[in-house]
Amino acid sequence: LRHLARKLRASGPVTVAEYMREALTNPGQGYYTRRGGVGESGDFITSPEISQVFGELIGIWYISEWMAMGKPTTLQLVELGPGRGTLTEDILRVFKQLASVLSKCDVSVHLVEVSPKLSEIQAVLLTGGKVQPNPEDESAYMKGISKTGIPISWYRDIQDVPPGYSFYLAHEFFDALPIHKFQRTERGWREVLVDIDPEVPDQLRFVLSPSRTPATQHFIQPEETRDHVEVCPEAGVIVQRLASRIEKDGGAALVADYGHDGTKTDTFRGFRNHKLHDVLSAPGTADLTADVDFSYLRKMAQGRTATLGPIKQRVFLKNMGIDLRLQVLLQNSGDTATREQLLHSYDMLMNPEKMGDCFNFFALLPHHRLVQPDKKDKPESKSPLPPVAGFNELLIK
Ligand code: SAH
Repeated sequence: LRHLARKLRASGPVTVAEYMREALTNPGQGYYTRRGGVGESGDFITSPEISQVFGELIGIWYISEWMAMGKPTTLQLVELGPGRGTLTEDILRVFKQLASVLSKCDVSVHLVEVSPKLSEIQAVLLTGGKVQPNPEDESAYMKGISKTGIPISWYRDIQDVPPGYSFYLAHEFFDALPIHKFQRTERGWREVLVDIDPEVPDQLRFVLSPSRTPATQHFIQPEETRDHVEVCPEAGVIVQRLASRIEKDGGAALVADYGHDGTKTDTFRGFRNHKLHDVLSAPGTADLTADVDFSYLRKMAQGRTATLGPIKQRVFLKNMGIDLRLQVLLQNSGDTATREQLLHSYDMLMNPEKMGDCFNFFALLPHHRLVQPDKKDKPESKSPLPPVAGFNELLIK
């Protein structure tokens, strides 16, 4: 707050995006830099932290897509914002269990993480802490080998990840990126800004820009019908990069987050100790987040890849076979406490009132994965493309 108040007094109000960036990822005082409270003892809990089944089904999704794409001989798993590393760990366990399927594939893991604190937690979980910081001739800032023997590298930016056939994963990542907020007024679009309150010392408040800002001119779509809009240009840039990489080198991206398809207006909020927190109070001590606008992500893929979804988490997980997996785990667990825990976590993930409806899955895939290129000369060689798991109903033969 002191840092921001000084800045606001010296140079005037800042955009919500700049405020959010300072509060979350300022190198000295940002929330993710210092705290990054994912998990039960932190500020918010995420699906992979609730149940191992979540990550296992995502691991299966990647293997299924890898097989459908003709089993390429190398595969990079690239996770954006891996939190405590739990999701990667669950995926790697599935890869190990299916080692015979992946035996001819060279698998590596690439984690994009800005938080020094969280990258340390990820390194302990995934490698047992045996990592090499600042490896020479590498764009990675840390390297190690997973407990299952797979090389892992850490980067600050997706652009540092080497090119190649890759599966990207972004779970609760895009909602943490800075948004701009806009409001329609009688005089046209205005941007919502954060300023210091002149009446109360060290208190922040929202104000409207007196005139158009560069962001109002660039980020609002001409066909926009809402009166209040949130836009996350950084998410747009990252989706463009993912789409270009998939178009060039192949692979797929799976994005899972809470969000909407271009319908919601005011979703900027804070979380501290699992409770809603005023976004403007004590910046740097709470998680700040906004719903992901999937319609914007789809637009930003610019047709370089096909897109699927968003579909609700409970539908995606059901299509991935969560009910079968739950049955197996229940059968294998001897004690009542474990069974209750399994049923409770299933309910958290699937119940429409909990995480089942508000979380969505969205995918970027090469066009040829969904539409067969024309084979006019040899129509008989056209076998139907396998359906994309999760986005189609599960059929058990
Ligand atoms: N995917 C994890 C964690 C979600 S929290 C889970 O589902 O449990 C958001 C994550 O994104 C954290 O790891 C945070 O440090 C990281 N993060 C936030 N902003 C980032 C940025 N600009 N670049 C890279 N990582 C970022």
